Amino acid sequence: MVEWIQGRVIGRRDWSDKLFSLQVQADLPAYQAGQFTRLALDLAGERLARAYSFVNSPSSDHHEFLLVRVQGGRLSPALGQLAAGDTLWLAPQASGFLTESEIPVGGRLWLLATGTGIGPFLSLLSDGAVARRFERLVLVHGVREGAELVYPELIAQYARQWGTRFAYQPLVTREPWPDALPMRIPQALAEGTLCRLLGISLDPAQDRVLLCGNPDMVADSLATLETLGFARHRRRAPGQVMMENYWSPASG
Ligand SMILES: Cc1cc2nc3c(=O)[nH]c(=O)nc-3n(C[C@H](O)[C@H](O)[C@H](O)COP(=O)(O)OP(=O)(O)OC[C@H]3O[C@@H](n4cnc5c(N)ncnc54)[C@H](O)[C@@H]3O)c2cc1C
Repeated sequence: MVEWIQGRVIGRRDWSDKLFSLQVQADLPAYQAGQFTRLALDLAGERLARAYSFVNSPSSDHHEFLLVRVQGGRLSPALGQLAAGDTLWLAPQASGFLTESEIPVGGRLWLLATGTGIGPFLSLLSDGAVARRFERLVLVHGVREGAELVYPELIAQYARQWGTRFAYQPLVTREPWPDALPMRIPQALAEGTLCRLLGISLDPAQDRVLLCGNPDMVADSLATLETLGFARHRRRAPGQVMMENYWSPASG
């Protein structure tokens, strides 16, 4: 049986009417940047749990999660009601392989996310280990509306810290937005728009790519990368691309 750990919300930030971050205090065992845990609430006599990625570096004094209220969802709308002082449950064990130690050796690291899928990448970047290892870091965030381009201050801090070693490219599909590409990530990859804009070509010999979020983005981006000679990375069959789907394409 899971020994749930009680946490307390110590703050929240609303980015849009459905996108929000929760800051949580909880005495959790050690976890790695890029991992996720399960958050749970007791609803209608049942402890209902779902996976959520840590946004923070593990060295942070609190845990932070970036969530979207899924319309008709069972847990996320209830998590969206939480305010400072409320309690919730956290699973004792973190999981996930989007961690520095699992990423194969390479020169450049591309972090491609949609929506809340940027969470584990912010955790990895804030932790600093990938930044020490890779000579270039490219963070790409695809969203529908500009308000969903979360954590601009943190991203600006990375840019100050790492200068030209770090690039950030937002993509916004439903409205014009300054500096954002008006297309989805797979299209920007397939048409070469991202590479042209950033002045970098994608080369399996040196680039490593992490994909996180919408399963269609993950599948379509992987398909394009495969045409460029990239392969999915597995412990037993090393490749260059790692991924995490936030929901299943069949049910989403
Ligand atoms: C490894 C992992 C990490 C995750 N990390 C995060 C995170 O950091 N932040 C976050 O908000 N969510 C994250 N999720 C998704 C989260 O676990 C829940 O699936 C989500 O909050 C919906 O739960 P629900 O109970 O409200 O909806 P449910 O009642 O479980 O499901 C409603 C439907 O919505 C679909 N769905 C789930 N998520 C989304 C979405 N984002 N957009 C559209 N449809 C969706 C489900 O497939 C299902 O068909 C993660 C999922 C996984 C597998």
